[in-house]
Amino acid sequence: MSELSELYQEVILDHNRRPHNFHKLVDATQTSEGLNPLCGDQLTLYLKMNNDTIEDIGFEGAGCAISKASASIMTDTVKGKTAAEAEALFEQVHDMLTGTENLDEEKLGKLAVLSGVREFPSRIKCASLSWHTLRSALRADRQVVSTE
Ligand code: ZN
Repeated sequence: MSELSELYQEVILDHNRRPHNFHKLVDATQTSEGLNPLCGDQLTLYLKMNNDTIEDIGFEGAGCAISKASASIMTDTVKGKTAAEAEALFEQVHDMLTGTENLDEEKLGKLAVLSGVREFPSRIKCASLSWHTLRSALRADRQVVSTE
């Protein structure tokens, strides 16, 4: 294992132990639920939108370290962003997880810690679950999102 992926693994474990924004928002304007039956990951996402900006975000749920760390990093990343910026980040993460081209780690910033997941296809859904749930909340789809 390279030094970089060891570092990434440390970051993932740290987010899993102490997830950021891990709480319900009582004044949420949008919520969405995500399920990854393959692994048993489940999360509820709460958004507080101010016009088109994600003013606050929180999540609750249970799942593996990757799903929890991904949700923790996702919530950190999109807080304060507009819905359109968050959608663009979704595309970046999706490309990172499913693509084969070299990564632009500078552009990805801390999202790059999840890039190692693409070597483990069964874990990609763990990492993408919170992002799919975010997109559903932004679009106010209201149904439960399942990765299956
Ligand atoms: Zn998982």
